[in-house]
Amino acid sequence: MTQSRKEHIRWPNDAKCAVLLTIHVDGESLYNRDPNHPSPRRVSYGKYGPARAVDRLLELTERKGIRCSYFIPGQIAERYPEMVRKIDMQGHEIGFHGFDHEEHMYTDRSREEWVQVIQRAQETFQRLIGKRAVGYVATSSDFQMDAPQIWHEQCGFQYSSSMRGDDRPYRMVFDGRESNFIEIPARWELDDYPFFVYSFDPPQPKGQSRIASYKGVLSNWKHEFDGYYGEGGCMTFMLHPQIIGIPGRTYMLEELLDYMLDKGDVWFATGREIADWWLTNY
Ligand SMILES: [Zn+2]
Repeated sequence: MTQSRKEHIRWPNDAKCAVLLTIHVDGESLYNRDPNHPSPRRVSYGKYGPARAVDRLLELTERKGIRCSYFIPGQIAERYPEMVRKIDMQGHEIGFHGFDHEEHMYTDRSREEWVQVIQRAQETFQRLIGKRAVGYVATSSDFQMDAPQIWHEQCGFQYSSSMRGDDRPYRMVFDGRESNFIEIPARWELDDYPFFVYSFDPPQPKGQSRIASYKGVLSNWKHEFDGYYGEGGCMTFMLHPQIIGIPGRTYMLEELLDYMLDKGDVWFATGREIADWWLTNY
């Protein structure tokens, strides 16, 4: 069903908008890419997430009564099984994000190979928490046009949060028809990475001039929230523990959550809950 800008989406309990915090626990997987140039310091930047920051985020969301969707590469789940169990025990969702945070997963590998990557990660989740992921977040590289259809029909995923083209969920269209596969798009503006990621050597960002002001980012996100609240969309964040989960930024995140919670009529939900809602109502 097509929604006009002014036509408010119906959310549970007449909430004005939905907020989804997707937490990408990339861990070491993002930072050990080049076997010829091992970089223990850079790898330790990723390790900070599971080793330190995930606990901080869990404590914060537990205190606020908010549940999130954690997307964890299979190898990170295997390396930190207690973390995975703790996330699951606290009622958060665990979703698929590659086995090794594979880049170019869909361009450098055959379909059979990347379906095997998915199965391998699912077996890890099954072993650790007794369930499979239903949510899919593609890693940063691109994918082929027919990939989402395979994620759904062949691999059993119910939703993805991999696109950028809307601020509301929608049913993906396969073979010219609306499917039961829900896309919950996210946006770079609601990703901590472009504001805060920093590596001295190798340089990231190239040119080295970016660590955005916390106040500025908080202000951006509050303004953006006001927009979603006014129009009734689904505000989908992409947060990385190694980036948002250092002490001062966690305070900033708390201030943002308090701002949203103070409204009293915002639906904080996991991706799975949002996909289920959309499937039933739209
Ligand atoms: Zn990632």
